[in-house]
Amino acid sequence: MFNKIIANSLPLMPKKFVWLFSKRYIAGETIDENIAISKKLNNSGILVTVDLLGEFIHTIDEAEINKNEYLGIVRRFTREKILGNFSIKPTSFGLLIDAEKCYEFVREVIVEAAKQNNFVRIDMEDSTCTSIEIALFERLKTEFPTNVGIVFQSYLKRTFSDIENLVVRTHKPESSLNIRLCKGIYVEPPELAYTNFHEVRHHFLKDLELMFQQGVYVGIATHDQFLVKEAFELINKYKVAKDKYEFQMLYGVTPSLRDSIVADGHKMRIYVPYGKDWFGYCSRRIKENPKMVTDIVKAVFIKG
Ligand SMILES: Cc1cc2nc3c(=O)[nH]c(=O)nc-3n(C[C@H](O)[C@H](O)[C@H](O)COP(=O)(O)OP(=O)(O)OC[C@H]3O[C@@H](n4cnc5c(N)ncnc54)[C@H](O)[C@@H]3O)c2cc1C
Repeated sequence: MFNKIIANSLPLMPKKFVWLFSKRYIAGETIDENIAISKKLNNSGILVTVDLLGEFIHTIDEAEINKNEYLGIVRRFTREKILGNFSIKPTSFGLLIDAEKCYEFVREVIVEAAKQNNFVRIDMEDSTCTSIEIALFERLKTEFPTNVGIVFQSYLKRTFSDIENLVVRTHKPESSLNIRLCKGIYVEPPELAYTNFHEVRHHFLKDLELMFQQGVYVGIATHDQFLVKEAFELINKYKVAKDKYEFQMLYGVTPSLRDSIVADGHKMRIYVPYGKDWFGYCSRRIKENPKMVTDIVKAVFIKG
């Protein structure tokens, strides 16, 4: 109850105060701050994926600004020799305003990344975007077989068959599918999504098993200790090679679990968000997961 009250009153609080809550999860407002954090993570043997935070956009000009910012990020990552790739949200590239322009903008970023043999992941957004984001991915994968990936959410009832269908359509030995699997963060209706915690976990493991069976490269994106343990069981069961999977976590979340996975010699990638719109991002995350407030209060008041 306390957590929910704090989460709901966030918009009323001074931004500086909310920053105390949020700085653990955000690299900062600028690309320089992101580079500094990414270098630190790289030095501890961890890869990164960068995310430019953007509130919902209303015009295609705003989408173009985001695209240009990403082009700058790709060039900067290359210059600074950061070991990392790029995560983008198609709605911030104008998906719901002009889908064709969005395709062109995302393509431009992939062209720049591909010049460096790098990779762009299309994040998955809410269920109104699922089909169009899969279609966008498939179109881009035809042209850039190894430079683009997608995300699936185990809470969606359609996900298992989406993966099966995608494997049939696009999975080739010379350009393996690269999929991030996560539980899913948006609030979805029960007709479309499993809402029970254990069901979501169960389907996460079913989806993961399917992808291992099919030789898909998987980004196992979770902080759920149970799922991490079960993922290791599947890796052992299918003798999955170390170059066919990686673990992925969000910046600032469960660092001790993260470090133990790295210490055991597995590839780990951290999702590092930055940008001027950190306030909206953090308010949404905290509302979605009010339990975060407990972590934050501890971080602010106990660890100073
Ligand atoms: C790298 C990465 C990329 C993602 N990309 C997408 C995407 O494209 N689309 C999408 O819908 N979702 C995405 N997500 C979010 C994901 O869907 C889940 O909502 C989120 O990871 C929480 O699920 P969990 O598996 O960690 O399990 P949970 O059961 O939610 O969490 C397990 C434990 O981790 C801790 N924890 C989890 N999240 C937080 C947090 N934010 N702050 C503090 N502690 C936390 C808590 O201690 C919790 O008990 C991504 C997640 C990661 C890690």
